[in-house]
Amino acid sequence: MTPFANQILNWYQKYGRKHLPWQHDKTAYRVWLSEIMLQQTQVATVIPYFERFIEQFPDVTSLANAPIDEVLHLWTGLGYYARARNLHKCAQIVVSQYQAEFPLEIEQLNALPGIGRSTAGAILSSVFKLPHAILDGNVKRVLARCYAIEGWPGKKAVENQLWSVAIDNTPQQRVDEYNQAMMDMGAMVCTRSKPKCSLCPVSEHCVAFKQYSPTDYPGKKPKKEKPTKQVWFVILHHEDEVWLEQRPSSGIWGGLHCFPEQSSADINDLLDTFGCSENAIEQAKTLITFKHTFSHYHLDITPVLINLAQRPSLIMEQSQGLWYNLSQPQKLGLAAPVKNLLANLKYDLT
Ligand code: SF4
Repeated sequence: MTPFANQILNWYQKYGRKHLPWQHDKTAYRVWLSEIMLQQTQVATVIPYFERFIEQFPDVTSLANAPIDEVLHLWTGLGYYARARNLHKCAQIVVSQYQAEFPLEIEQLNALPGIGRSTAGAILSSVFKLPHAILDGNVKRVLARCYAIEGWPGKKAVENQLWSVAIDNTPQQRVDEYNQAMMDMGAMVCTRSKPKCSLCPVSEHCVAFKQYSPTDYPGKKPKKEKPTKQVWFVILHHEDEVWLEQRPSSGIWGGLHCFPEQSSADINDLLDTFGCSENAIEQAKTLITFKHTFSHYHLDITPVLINLAQRPSLIMEQSQGLWYNLSQPQKLGLAAPVKNLLANLKYDLT
């Protein structure tokens, strides 16, 4: 065991997190679920989602058999919905191809939807104590600083260097504790903007600390100005219901329910498509434009509320849509801005 690993393990014994919900009754299913939720999301946010998922889907078979809408509904608010769709696909493959047991070969695990090399390593080390390294965002930060590895970890060459030091330090024994300790170190001590170097168990090995430059590592992603796109959401409202459509499974908000949308302010063609005659429209009101930001662009969304005296004639012919009841909402996966709009709609309807 390297001196680095030894010090990390000693620190973990005293200070590491040992009571997270997925650290009890450990199974590959529970650890996998937590790992997918923890990608790009903080522990405190994940805990209630994890508990709700486990209650609803106690094992991989119940998740595989659930309708995707139910999975997306439970995921609503966690963001990065591709994770939920991959979670569902992965559960179905584990059930159909692996008799509901996650495979123990890292290559097979890594090949499943949504499971990258680090997640595969985390599952195998945490549950089965197999000596695989991990390299999530927290671990990357600790190692980039300790070894003064320059450059943005999104670049393959930088990532390879990080994997190399991660593997060199991963011990054969107590690998479950070591990997958890590295994640905890990144989350609790070697934090992004204000690392607590005076409390750090590996400061004597840390090159960035000796250079007085911890926050120079890891290198930042090269900045690109995000473009802004515009979209109009058309809220067709009749009595206590609004019309929602399910989006295609790929692309933004894939598989989630959304208002019909278009990229220009002139919504007449869209209303014609639905068979909304002028007589049927009691009131049309443009609501306040708001911004939703994705990783690659901003979206300015202008909702247009159309109060209808009757349901449009052609709307039921549209596939993948439904009248969503505002008083007794159906369980659906909703795009985040749609969820917010629905929550505030009562003020616009008065
Ligand atoms: S000494 Fe500071 S920068 Fe280096 S690993 Fe520890 S907390 Fe991070």
